[in-house]
Amino acid sequence: MNPPSSVYADFNPEDYGLPNEQEIASWISGYTALPSNSPRAQPITEGVHPVIVAEQNARDSHTRAYFSDEKIGRIDTPLALRRVGSRSLKNIREDFPILAERIENKPVIWLDNAATTQRPKQVIERLVQYYEHENSNVHRGAHALAARSTDAYEAAREKIARFIGAPDKEDIVYVRGTTEGVNLVAQSYVKPLLNPGDEIILTQLEHHANIVPWQQIAQETGATLRIAAVDETGQILLSEYARLFSKKTRFAAFTHVSNALGVITPAEEMIAIAHCFGVAALVDAAQSVPHLPINVTALDADFLVFSGHKIFGPTGIGAVYGKKTFWEAARPWQGGGNMIADVTFERTQYRAAPAKFEAGTGNIADAIGLGAALDYVSAIGLAHISRYEHDLLEYATKTLSEIKGVRLIGRAAQKTGVLSFVLEGRSVEEVGQHLSKAGIAVRAGHHCAQPILRHFGLEATVRPSFAFYNLPEEIDALARVVRSLA
Ligand code: PMP
Repeated sequence: MNPPSSVYADFNPEDYGLPNEQEIASWISGYTALPSNSPRAQPITEGVHPVIVAEQNARDSHTRAYFSDEKIGRIDTPLALRRVGSRSLKNIREDFPILAERIENKPVIWLDNAATTQRPKQVIERLVQYYEHENSNVHRGAHALAARSTDAYEAAREKIARFIGAPDKEDIVYVRGTTEGVNLVAQSYVKPLLNPGDEIILTQLEHHANIVPWQQIAQETGATLRIAAVDETGQILLSEYARLFSKKTRFAAFTHVSNALGVITPAEEMIAIAHCFGVAALVDAAQSVPHLPINVTALDADFLVFSGHKIFGPTGIGAVYGKKTFWEAARPWQGGGNMIADVTFERTQYRAAPAKFEAGTGNIADAIGLGAALDYVSAIGLAHISRYEHDLLEYATKTLSEIKGVRLIGRAAQKTGVLSFVLEGRSVEEVGQHLSKAGIAVRAGHHCAQPILRHFGLEATVRPSFAFYNLPEEIDALARVVRSLA
């Protein structure tokens, strides 16, 4: 098999009416516009730095898209009336059996949604239905159960494609989760492009899953990593990010939402800047897909990865979206059954994507369970979910920031429902343990994102993270414990 070449390798920005490298260098030091084909291209106010305009556009668009409409599920309504879209919160919570669990004789308060979410009974029941009525291997065996499981498995792939706005279900490759997805792209597509001295661009916000795989292939090929900086609120400095690109850049990978801070990055602008340099970009959407409406086509993402368990689906299943041209250029990373068209002892012919990247028997039941989770979330509506969670975030930010000794980390204007804080005079572990005794589950630690915490001079924080089934009363309970320790 030929090694994959970069689909953008022969890319000449000027053929597409895009600025060349010198022009881009001049935006950074001068006053010209964003690439004119960027969906965000706006008339530039004279004398305002173009990257500042891009940053402002990113900010405004997030505000417009998610937060500025009339608020739904306001936190000052009584619980019985509180709604997320057309569903009452009481009714939503009844879908999640584990929320009725008691810990230390108190109702469990699940504020660890960035680590994993809870599953509604619709997902649990779908798994039971699969094992009771459909279980079979897929794609092989001409019998009724094989047809049932294959149909359900492929229908789930279609649901994933629709959920993230992918043009075709064949663009979706099943993986174990975000971590495996990043490794797949690193090994299959990016590693064969790398030569000594080449560069991959990441950001300070990344989860270890979006650092280590790139570090590994960089070490193996002599490439290096370049890291985009954040400002004091934890937001990417677009000008710094743009400045990292050069002829040596082969790939960019960044998170859409920081798991440690909840900061939403200006993904569309970051992708547009990468494309101006003929570089493809991967979006780690582990923390964004469950909380914000995402459309890979509108974003123009080249690759996007996410995990089922963070979007109310099963563990052990996730997806990678890739543009067709990139899947065609990429080499398979694992060999085995299912991914082949023909095998002799001399050579193997591979099937097209997604099969080419899905060697062996996949996680059939959990893929189908993920499809059920996406149906569940779609029925409530991500626009409603993101608005309600934003209300929770505002309420929690206000409540916690009023507690003496609490230092909130990462207070960017665009955030999902994640708070990261430390409490003066108390260790992070101590706060976590006291919360746990009160039945409140939060994450206390480094959140697999050590570089960004160290950037803020910390080794660990306490991180409550919200989902649409959380209540302001649960935030009050959290605040009571923190206040008692302050
Ligand atoms: N990226 C981000 C931003 C994450 O939050 C996580 C999970 N905490 C991952 C990657 C890794 O996801 P998984 O463990 O499901 O592979």
